[in-house]
Amino acid sequence: MSASRMILLGPPGAGKGTQAAGLINRLGIPHVSTGDMLRAAVNAETPVGLKAKAIMDAGELVSDDVVIGIAEERLSEDDAKNGFLLDGFPRTMAQAEALEGLLSKLGVELDCCLAITVDNDAVVERLLKRAEIEGRADDNEETIRERMREYDNKTAPLLDFYTGRGVLTEVDGMGTIDEVEERIKQALEG
Ligand code: AMP
Repeated sequence: MSASRMILLGPPGAGKGTQAAGLINRLGIPHVSTGDMLRAAVNAETPVGLKAKAIMDAGELVSDDVVIGIAEERLSEDDAKNGFLLDGFPRTMAQAEALEGLLSKLGVELDCCLAITVDNDAVVERLLKRAEIEGRADDNEETIRERMREYDNKTAPLLDFYTGRGVLTEVDGMGTIDEVEERIKQALEG
């Protein structure tokens, strides 16, 4: 697998985090999850965390300014020089455009935007199960619906954007973790 600068795209509950863990092991690149970074900021009660908590709990998107700042800082670190797996970023066109600007400033190009596709009912079921296991405050039925709406309205347009850039690869996210992992391997090798 040659891709080393990658975006993992998909609706909440598509299994991005799970598949990211396998990918970073195989590719030896850092996992850059804005959701993880924001949750860490919430737990540490930093100014960003204090601002983001209510928005995240409601299932809405944190403002572009804040998230772009966090992502740019992380991608500028040394360990991201030879590659990274972006998980949960970009989620809006403004974020995608900021990422383009940052990558061109760094003199590198995106290799792949891997989009995991799922059906919505299955996603809600997955998220409710995860809510039980992880106790995430943003995993109740109402916020799940809001997160899906945010995805459809603001993030789904990125599929066309990355198709236009010639880097979109779609993978069916239904099935077992192993099955999806195998499809991803094949998609990246093909
Ligand atoms: P995730 O773990 O990626 O599902 O992210 C959890 C929550 O963090 C999301 O529902 C948003 O409230 C917030 N978040 C994470 N990444 C972003 C982003 N790129 N833009 C806006 N909000 C984000």
